[in-house]
Amino acid sequence: MRSPGPQGPAGEAPPPALTDHDAVRATFSWRQAREQLAGLPGGRLNIAHEALDRHLGTPTAERIAMRFLPRQGEPVDISYRALAERANRFANLLAALGVKPGDRVYGIAHRTPDLYAAALGTLKHGGVFTPLFSAFGPEPIRSRVEIGEPVVLVTTERLYRRKIADWIGETPSAQRVLLIGEVAEAPPGTLDAGQAMSEQSPDYATRPMAPEDPALLHFTSGTTGRPKGAIHVHEAVVAHHVTGRYALDLQPRDIYWCTADPGWVTGTSYGIIAPLTNGVTMVVDEEEFDAERWYRILEQERVTVWYTAPTAIRMLMKLGPALARRHDLSALRFLASVGEPLNPEAVHWGRATLGRPFHDNWWQTETGGIMIANVAGMPIKPGSMGRPVPGIEAAVARRTDDGIELVKDPAETGELALKTPWPSMFRGYLHEEARYRKCFVGDWYLTGDLARRDEDGYFWFIGRADDVIKSSGHLIGPFEVESVLMEHPAVAEAGVIGVPDEVAGETVKAFVSLKPGHAPDEALRREILGLARKRLGPAVAPRQVEFRERLPRTRSGKIMRRLLRARELGLPEGDTSTLEGGRE
Ligand code: AMP
Repeated sequence: MRSPGPQGPAGEAPPPALTDHDAVRATFSWRQAREQLAGLPGGRLNIAHEALDRHLGTPTAERIAMRFLPRQGEPVDISYRALAERANRFANLLAALGVKPGDRVYGIAHRTPDLYAAALGTLKHGGVFTPLFSAFGPEPIRSRVEIGEPVVLVTTERLYRRKIADWIGETPSAQRVLLIGEVAEAPPGTLDAGQAMSEQSPDYATRPMAPEDPALLHFTSGTTGRPKGAIHVHEAVVAHHVTGRYALDLQPRDIYWCTADPGWVTGTSYGIIAPLTNGVTMVVDEEEFDAERWYRILEQERVTVWYTAPTAIRMLMKLGPALARRHDLSALRFLASVGEPLNPEAVHWGRATLGRPFHDNWWQTETGGIMIANVAGMPIKPGSMGRPVPGIEAAVARRTDDGIELVKDPAETGELALKTPWPSMFRGYLHEEARYRKCFVGDWYLTGDLARRDEDGYFWFIGRADDVIKSSGHLIGPFEVESVLMEHPAVAEAGVIGVPDEVAGETVKAFVSLKPGHAPDEALRREILGLARKRLGPAVAPRQVEFRERLPRTRSGKIMRRLLRARELGLPEGDTSTLEGGRE
C-alpha cells in the first residue's frame, strides 16, 4: 500500500524534547542555546553552516535532508551532502557573478530543490536572501524589488515571462536574473542557472559572518504605506534551532513536513532552516493544497511532525473525516499550526481524526521565530496560542501617555508585547528606521496583536490592533490593494477590509467610489476585480468589490476602514468624532 518513508518506519515515538517546560524556562539562556550550534572561528557563524556544513563530518551527511515531491513523477531524495553541494554550486555562481556579501538575492519561484539551494547558497556566500511568494502578481513583486534593490533575482522562465519581464528593465537594481528549473530558451538578460551551476565547483568555503550581519529580508505588510522589509541576522539561527526543537519537537529521526511556502517567513524559518539545523528529513511538495494528495503524503512519507496552518486544517475538516480515515496516519506524532487563530474544534478534530491534537503557536515576520506555543509535554488549551517558549518573555500591555503599562488582570485585553532582545528579532525595517523605532517602547516590542493572558500564563489571541488582513494565513496590507484599485481609470477612492470567511479566516473586500461619468454596473465590477487579480495575484486580490457613492473619511482625509468594517459586519461604530462631516 505504501513505500516506506525516507528513513523507514518511524518506530517508537521518542519522548518530547521539552518534557518540563517550567524547568527548562527557568534555566534557559540564549548564550547556552548558541552552544548547541557549531559556530565558526572568532565568534562568527553562518546560518547555512549550521544547516548544512556542520553535519558533513557526521552520519547526518548521508541522511536525506529533503524528499522532494514533484507535481508529477517520482520523489527525489537529496542527502545533506548533496544539498550542501548544490548550495555550494550556487554560492560559487554568485561569486563568479561578482555578488558581494550583503548584496540581496531574491527568490521568486515555486518549491523545487533549486530554490532551497539558492537560499542556502546565498547565505553561504554572505548574501541576504529574500523569498517572495510565487503566486504574487507583478505589482507586489515589483514594489518589493524597488524597495529591496536585489542584485540577483532567482526565478523560473515562466514566472519571469509572465510577471517580471515587462518592468524589470525599468528597475536599475536587479542586474542578474537567474532562471531555475527547465529553461526552454533563456530570454535576453537572463541566465540558465541549472546550466551555470553545473559548471561551478561543488566545494565552497562558507563565509564566516558576524552574528549581527544581515542574512534574510522578509517582507510583511502594515496598515499604511509600502510593504515593510524586516531584516534578520545570522544570529537568528539560534532561535530557529531551539524553537524547532522545543515548539515543534523536532528530533533527528523525524520526517517533517512544513506546508508553508518559503515565500513566507514560516516557510523559511521552519521550512528550510530549523529542520536542517535539527538534522531531520524534510518533505517538500511542489504542489499546492489538495486534500487527497496531502493525506497521501502524510501516509506514504510516514510524516512524523507536521506544521501547517488553520486554513488548510479547516479545508480538511470541511471534507469530513472519512477521507482521513482511508489513510494510515499512524506515523504522525506531533502536529502544529500557525498563522491565524486556530479554533478549538480544529484541535479536537486533529485528535479525533488524525490521532493527535494540533499544537497552536504564535509568531510573526518581525519575531523571526516561534514566540508562544503549546509545546509538547504541556497541556494544550484549545483556542489558546500557548505559553512563551524558553528565552521569551511576553506580556499584555496597555499604551499610556508616557509609555506602556503591563496588564496583570487575566480578564483584560491589551497589546501583545515581547521583552527584547532575542536572536531572531528583526533588526530593522529596510530604509525605514522611524517605522522600526515606533514598534518599541522601552525594553518591549509591541506586536500589533491584541491578546489576553490567563491565570495559567497561556495567551489568547483577540485580534489585530490595526487594519491588516489575514487571509489564508497571508498578511495583506490594505494600502497595497487600494493602490492597485486606484489605478483603474473609473475608481475615485478605494477602501479595503477583511471580512470573515469560514475557511480562509478572512477574505479581502473592497469598497470603491467612482469618478463622475462612470456607472456602478456588473461589467465594471468584474473589470476592477480582473485588474486586481492580474496585478496583485489571487492570494492578495479582493474577492468582492462593492460600489459606494462615497467612502467614510476622517477630517484629515484618511479612509476609515474601521468604520467600513463595522458597518459591513454590523458591529458598533465606535468613536466617529473624527469622521469628515461628523456622524452620518
Ligand atoms: P506574518 O508576519 O505574516 O507571519 O503574520 C503574523 C500575524 O499573524 C500575527 O501578528 C498574528 O496577527 C497572526 N498570527 C500568527 N500566528 C497566530 C496564531 N497562532 N493565532 C492567531 N493569530 C496568529
